[in-house]
Amino acid sequence: MTPLLESYCAGRWVRADDEGEPLLDAATGEEVARISSRGLDVGAMVRHARSVGGPALRALTFHERAALLKALAKHLTAGKDALAELSMRTGATARDTAIDVDGGIGTLFSYASKGTRELPNDTIVLDGSAERLGKGGTFVGQHVYTSRPGVAVQINAFNFPVWGMLEKLGPALLAGLPTIVKPASQTAYLTELAVRRILESGLLPEGSLQLIAGGAGSLLDELTVHDSVAFTGSAHTAGILRRHPNVVDGGVVLGVEADSLNCSILGPDVRPGDPEFDLFVKGVVTEMTVKAGQKCTAIRRVLVPEPLADTVIEALEARLSRISVGDPRNPDVRMGALASLGQRDEVRKAVEALRASADVVIGDPDGGALLDGDPDRGAFLTPLVLRATDGATEPHDVEPFGPVSTVLTYDALDQAVALAARGKGSLVASVASHDPQVVRDVVLGLAPWHGRVLVLDRDDAAESTGHGSPLPTLVHGGPGRAGGGEELGGVRAVLRHLQRTAIQASPDLLTAVTGRWTPGARQPESDVHPFRKSLADLRIGDTIRSAARTVTLADIEHFADFTGDTFYAHTDAEAAARNPLFGGIVAHGYLVVSLAAGLFVEPSPGPVLANYGVDDLRFLTPVKAGDSIAVTLTVKQITPRNTADYGEVRWDAVVTNQDGKPVATYDVLTLVAKTWAAS
Ligand code: NDP
Repeated sequence: MTPLLESYCAGRWVRADDEGEPLLDAATGEEVARISSRGLDVGAMVRHARSVGGPALRALTFHERAALLKALAKHLTAGKDALAELSMRTGATARDTAIDVDGGIGTLFSYASKGTRELPNDTIVLDGSAERLGKGGTFVGQHVYTSRPGVAVQINAFNFPVWGMLEKLGPALLAGLPTIVKPASQTAYLTELAVRRILESGLLPEGSLQLIAGGAGSLLDELTVHDSVAFTGSAHTAGILRRHPNVVDGGVVLGVEADSLNCSILGPDVRPGDPEFDLFVKGVVTEMTVKAGQKCTAIRRVLVPEPLADTVIEALEARLSRISVGDPRNPDVRMGALASLGQRDEVRKAVEALRASADVVIGDPDGGALLDGDPDRGAFLTPLVLRATDGATEPHDVEPFGPVSTVLTYDALDQAVALAARGKGSLVASVASHDPQVVRDVVLGLAPWHGRVLVLDRDDAAESTGHGSPLPTLVHGGPGRAGGGEELGGVRAVLRHLQRTAIQASPDLLTAVTGRWTPGARQPESDVHPFRKSLADLRIGDTIRSAARTVTLADIEHFADFTGDTFYAHTDAEAAARNPLFGGIVAHGYLVVSLAAGLFVEPSPGPVLANYGVDDLRFLTPVKAGDSIAVTLTVKQITPRNTADYGEVRWDAVVTNQDGKPVATYDVLTLVAKTWAAS
């Protein structure tokens, strides 16, 4: 008998108290492992995650968590071969495995990088700027995101045992949430191996990752407010989870990614022979055959202009005839097996349902030639294309989760958009067109019904990642039937895990809470210029108020001459007088900012290493010759970098004129040494 998969529960690997159910190789029917979660104490898992994993993760800053993700991604890369080998047993070809395993690891790398670049080296995230709530400026508000003291549960589908876990794990860990992974039983042996590799690495704090091999049991009964469930799978199971009392009344947040009848539209501008025609056909064939069509993003509905339907079907047939189907261990096989014989039965049932309003025009639902493999023991199914009759309803309702697509025809573009919408909300749609007006009309029509829309044409084809690839930087999810959830999308996925709270306080106390200087808070000045202080000495609020400097006409002329910026408002008195905003010569905005730098700088070598930009620069009041300007520079935020001897200092800069009116406001960004000998 093959080994029983173990669950990782409260710090140890545990085995069910029965023999479990067999899990079979998708291509050969051999037993790969057995699975059961009988006797598993899911309550202990949830408590362990909350009491051990959560606090350990939340003690780390976003940058430290991002560093963990990067180390984890490197560790998994080093052990990739074993995962790839086992992946074949799920029916996956090398190309499918690259999407699942490499794609999953790539997602971790992407989140590691996003976490470092786009999140603070802190445990809270500020959302927007402080809002002034009173006339006197003593009462202000600020939105902040904090980590929830809960557990992220992920319940995954069978089709991406590695990517499905990692795409959810990355954002959750970054958000400081411990995770309990519940993979689909059918391919759980591959997820289990990946989890073992991760845990063996010792990189993650204990309690931050646990695994349920087998049924979820009473897991949802254990969850409460602050816990979340991210589900990928069938609409049927999603319905069961949606009705769970802890979701309905208990505050558990449920994200669903379920069935999706994605479509691809051939634009009415495209003719056979155009690059877009071939790109369209190639895209459909790719989506039908990668993972044997078992992709939540696969193209189920192929929408083409009526006069081109036959030509499109011929082109699909020509390409599909080159797809060899069989055991993925054979390197000549282009498409492997479905996940199980049961899954093949489901697909065949779906095809039967589709045949109520569509005819099979390519392939044989009951047979089809195999390059390699036993059709009775392996879950093979050759690609099938159907053509819908007019007014067909089934293609908009039935999801054949395999290498099956249905061609539907349209007369006018708005009809194509209306047909797409009959999917009742999908993950992704694509349109092949090179006509800007067609593309705008289709994209705006499709967008409310889809989480992602790909426009494919000759210009982006070489770099396009294709219709079916969710990307870590773009949202993955869709409205309505697709579940209404949203995953990925870069930092958005992290923020979705956090709690947003509006904090109201005085500027000083808000500064204390947020770690970012708030306008109106204390601005202590000292004899030591802040540019002489390293990060060790610099404090939020440290301020320098410069002396004043009069801006002369000669300054303005010199700047115009020197830079070549001779815009009339700075050089032509008569024309400038007619300018309704200025009524005369004004100083260049960049002159004001340059003079301000001259006013606040401390020039000698010191801990300030570089100026790397300004943010939010606004010119508020024109400066005329004879005006006198001064600048106030305040330490707004300090972000040490974990992997360098320096960190970032964000300075609040306000340039005022002789009347105290703000002339320019901006943030100055500098890199400052962590320590400095003379400090
Ligand atoms: P299921 O909905 O049956 O299973 C998905 C996950 O939910 C599995 O981990 C499963 O565990 C778990 N699960 C099942 N019942 C419960 C429950 N009562 N409580 C908690 N967890 C539960 O989907 P499948 O993966 O079996 O796929 C079936 C169909 O779903 C496909 O044919 C396809 O149509 C659709 N699908 C859609 C996807 C999409 O993203 N659009 C992705 C994958 C599938 P276990 O395996 O142990 O039963």
